[in-house]
Amino acid sequence: MRVLIVEDEPDLLDSLLKAVREDGYAADGAADGDDGLFKAENYEYDAVVLDIMLPGMDGWEVLRRLRKTKRTPVLMLTALDAVRDRVRGLDTGADDYLVKPFDTSELLARLRALIRRAASQPQPRLEIGDVVVDTVARTVKLQGREVTLTAREYTLLEFLAVHRGKVVTRTMLYEHLFDENDDSMSNLLDVHVSNIRKKLGHAFITTRRGHGYCIEAAL
Ligand code: CA
Repeated sequence: MRVLIVEDEPDLLDSLLKAVREDGYAADGAADGDDGLFKAENYEYDAVVLDIMLPGMDGWEVLRRLRKTKRTPVLMLTALDAVRDRVRGLDTGADDYLVKPFDTSELLARLRALIRRAASQPQPRLEIGDVVVDTVARTVKLQGREVTLTAREYTLLEFLAVHRGKVVTRTMLYEHLFDENDDSMSNLLDVHVSNIRKKLGHAFITTRRGHGYCIEAAL
């Protein structure tokens, strides 16, 4: 999963990027509205965290313009717990909002819920045959026993699980799992898939030649 954070306070932006990456997401940052809108329009994000008070184009304007072309889930950061702001945000097409100051763990929980809703997977627990993926605890169990995955392996598995029954192309994986800081990591896609198969069984992830990977709906 790949997230964009648009926030003009450098310390807050850095700490949010760090927290989101530690939670296993790929994450890009933007320090003003123009850069935020450019990235949101041109890259494939699973969610956008958008501050309202930004230099230049503010968060409202970014959201209004983005909604002309994209349905990417947006979580607005408001400085005031004003009902007016919340109503305006939801009317403009925001999917959720959080009042500053907030707890990072709450931001991460809301991001996970947003991404699940957008993928039509409202359940935090995904059961796939004898594998259970808990997207809140970020754990994977095979026949009731916890399987240890690296952060990358987990992220890849979760993305495939959320899109179960559909072929996920390599391009989609590059776009959703890796951020601007990653370069050589993307070459390791096959290695990650191979490691997940070793842990969960070879048939768990199907390779569709020339297309990508799939967790079959029938598993
Ligand atoms: Ca701000």
